[in-house]
Amino acid sequence: MANQKSTPLYVKNAILFSIAFLIAAIIYIIDINVPSSIAIGAIYSLVILYSWILPTKNISIYIGILCTILIILGMTEKSASLPQGSLEGFNTFIAIIVVWVCVTLVSAAKSGYAGLEKVLSLLEKKVFERTKALLKSQKELEISERIYSSLYENSNEMLASIKNNNEVIRCNETLANKLGYSKDEILGRSIEFLHDENSLANLRNSLKGYNEGKSIKNAELQLKTNSGKAIDVILNVSSSKNNDGTIAFKRFSWTDITELKRIENERIAYAEKLEAKNKELEQFAFIASHDLQEPLRTVTSFSELLSNEYRTQFDETGKDSLNFILEATGRMQNLVKALLDYSRIGKDAEMQQVNFIEIIENLKKDLSLKITETNTLIEYDVVDVAVMGYKDEVRQLFLNLILNAIKFGKKEVSPIIKISSLKKQNEIQFCIADNGIGISKEHQHKIFKIFKRLHSRNEYDGTGIGLAHCQKIIDLHGGKIWVESSLGKGSKFFFTLKT
Ligand code: ADP
Repeated sequence: MANQKSTPLYVKNAILFSIAFLIAAIIYIIDINVPSSIAIGAIYSLVILYSWILPTKNISIYIGILCTILIILGMTEKSASLPQGSLEGFNTFIAIIVVWVCVTLVSAAKSGYAGLEKVLSLLEKKVFERTKALLKSQKELEISERIYSSLYENSNEMLASIKNNNEVIRCNETLANKLGYSKDEILGRSIEFLHDENSLANLRNSLKGYNEGKSIKNAELQLKTNSGKAIDVILNVSSSKNNDGTIAFKRFSWTDITELKRIENERIAYAEKLEAKNKELEQFAFIASHDLQEPLRTVTSFSELLSNEYRTQFDETGKDSLNFILEATGRMQNLVKALLDYSRIGKDAEMQQVNFIEIIENLKKDLSLKITETNTLIEYDVVDVAVMGYKDEVRQLFLNLILNAIKFGKKEVSPIIKISSLKKQNEIQFCIADNGIGISKEHQHKIFKIFKRLHSRNEYDGTGIGLAHCQKIIDLHGGKIWVESSLGKGSKFFFTLKT
């Protein structure tokens, strides 16, 4: 398409002004060539009226001045040829009055119109801005609606909105997909049809309670798919209220817990298996250590007999061998006894009130000889409360830890043992601290395992089962045991017991 160039504004204005001058000139020529007086003012007012369409602000006044000059010129031109007593002077006066009345009217109308235009353009601007803002917020609303809708539809939860008569008014794709229905098949029907028959009574009860003000949180139910398969879910319900506080509709949110249930069942089965295996092992350890004692006793007593009756008949190698046999059988007896004790922990024991101060005081009495021999100082500051526990086992726990604290003391340094406790929400945390040889970080994880020792028998005697005992006693009470220590700087054994 050809590019049509519009005429520039100043050319248009020049043409309009020229036309005004032309009309005024024609009227002037008519005026001076008409011999009689005519209503020249009325004719000039045409030019004034025409000035309405001229763009410049005060143009009507300028045109008015031009017309006045032309009227006066016309009168002067004609006055010589007109007879005495004609009304030319009066006519000219009236013409000028008419011209200026016109000028005033046109100017007033023009400025009124300009004001109107201004108001109009202002109004237009406001309407434009309002429309723009409206469009913007409409767009934002559309976006947030799209975000909400995609969140709602693609949520992992199965969601539905339910009327007070339990009719489904809205649901998401997740619910429809998981249950194998189309949305239309769900909408308008009672929420009950989505649930498994086994869960209906529970659902009805929960909803009854909800309408009476109780909440529905993590209620375990089963949904039923279109093909009849049950799905384990937990249900949470919230509601949207009317202004008067009554429920407008309820929001149902079901979470599929099939996978969780499967894992939980697996875990329970595994724990049961583990417990059975543990029991089997304990039984085995008990029987083995119990039955081993008999032949061991025979070997020991015959070795002792041999040593007592025939020692003098042996040469030096024979005597050494006899000593080794006696030592080894003695150690084995200790080990078998320790193993038997270990397997007996908690067996046939009954829970009773355990008072820690009483236990520590009794232990101090029982160990008084050892305490004096080793010049040990035992200080304690523990809570004076009694908790339910296995008393003999708890005594054994304190005994093992105190004996270790004495046994693993530094050479030439008197052992100092500090027993303290901290009352927490559901448990008491104990600490048995010593000033002994300490345990390096890398070995700390091993010491609670059965028969694990960090030293040779020559350095410190023992079977390596004491802390395993402690661990088992703590497990029996559902607590925790651990150590904080560094080599050469003493050790702190912590354990917790439930209150
Ligand atoms: P045992 O005392 O018969 O060696 P335990 O099971 O009681 O066996 O202890 C295992 C190991 O833990 C010990 O051999 C020792 O190395 C270390 N241990 C236990 N208690 C302490 C302690 N209070 N200070 C330093 N080391 C310790």
